[in-house]
Amino acid sequence: MLRHNGGMSERIIPLVDLRNSLPLPPPSAPLAWSSSLQDVRGRPLHDLRISVTDRCNFRCSYCMPKEVFHKDYPYLPHSDLLTFEEITRTAQAFVALGVRKIRLTGGEPLLRKNIEVLIAQLAALRTPEGLPLDITLTTNGSLLARKAQALKDAGLQRVTVSLDGLDDAIFRQMNDVDFPVADVLAGIDAAQAAGLSSIKVNMVVKRGTNDHEILPMARHFKGSGVTLRFIEYMDVGATNGWRMDEVLPSAQVIERLQAELPLVALRASAPGETAQRWGYADAQGLFDPSQGEIGVISSVTQAFCGDCNRARLSTEGQLYLCLFASQGYDLRSLIRGSLSDEALRQQIAAIWQGRSDRYSELRSLMPPDSEQAPARKRVEMSYIGG
Ligand code: SAM
Ligand code: SF4
Ligand code: SF4
Repeated sequence: MLRHNGGMSERIIPLVDLRNSLPLPPPSAPLAWSSSLQDVRGRPLHDLRISVTDRCNFRCSYCMPKEVFHKDYPYLPHSDLLTFEEITRTAQAFVALGVRKIRLTGGEPLLRKNIEVLIAQLAALRTPEGLPLDITLTTNGSLLARKAQALKDAGLQRVTVSLDGLDDAIFRQMNDVDFPVADVLAGIDAAQAAGLSSIKVNMVVKRGTNDHEILPMARHFKGSGVTLRFIEYMDVGATNGWRMDEVLPSAQVIERLQAELPLVALRASAPGETAQRWGYADAQGLFDPSQGEIGVISSVTQAFCGDCNRARLSTEGQLYLCLFASQGYDLRSLIRGSLSDEALRQQIAAIWQGRSDRYSELRSLMPPDSEQAPARKRVEMSYIGG
């Protein structure tokens, strides 16, 4: 948000606590969801993202700017966090309703003490067909070199590491805690050595800040077995001072890559996938799997709400139906009450059946120069989980 002040522009950072909840709808009868649970737009429930901490050791300006997330910031007290048992019980209810993929996130999930214990509990869950879940985790990589093997041993299959460039000075500036690139790269190496598969690297592209790192990053990870994904800088939360002119549309990312590294479009590997996939081409212009692929996540310029099948469980057990929501549903009070597992499932089913969120679609209908539309109050990504 910009306020004009005698010709000068000063950035105002609103600090609004949106951690209040929506009223719960009446629970659904089991028959209403037992075959295939859908929201009001016909979207199934498939992915669950769980934020395991609202704390982080980085201060990426697009996510947890230092001016807001300072040493006196009111992080949640430990007693407000869902315990591992509460998370696992809630996850089990989601699995009964269709969830097949769980992503642990935050904040920085590897800061949560004994996270591997939670991973082991989630890895033991089974779908109604008796199959294991797809369990993954998104991390800034700072603790990965130390923890990769324990995570793998606990049952983690995949990992996504965030890294915004290879230029050490730029990366240190973007994480704003002077953290070096080399340590994140060591974390990625450790994840590969531990046998974690389908490793992905997420790079948030901010025009004018790190867009010159697109090609060096692509050259570095091409053929390495790691899939690099470029994420459009999003207007998530209310504290990052987002501006449309700092978004580099994915189409331009692809154009810049194509100038040096020919790419061919690949099909989505799963419905509701957030990234559009591109494969590196061989001399004949055909996809060369040995060189791997990249992805672009165009949350701003190409809305993908139409098949969004993701639910988010916040650190303190609030259920959010959209990354851009301002309020969630308080599942923690249900879990800590005397609710049966069946009643918990019925309640979550009713919430999902009432879902109509499609923030990015609505944003794309707004004039291109409108900032932070259509809702101004939004919960922070570090709390809800990316
Ligand atoms: N701390 C972990 C990390 O950075 O990977 C997990 C949590 S972080 C909120 C999850 C993902 O959200 C990261 O890949 C991060 O780059 C991305 N992210 C955060 N703020 C963003 C923004 N404003 N626009 C686009 N992506 C963002
Ligand atoms: Fe921390 Fe991840 Fe947010 Fe960066 S993007 S501040 S690493 S939670
Ligand atoms: Fe899903 Fe909301 Fe993102 Fe649309 S804006 S894709 S509904 S999380």
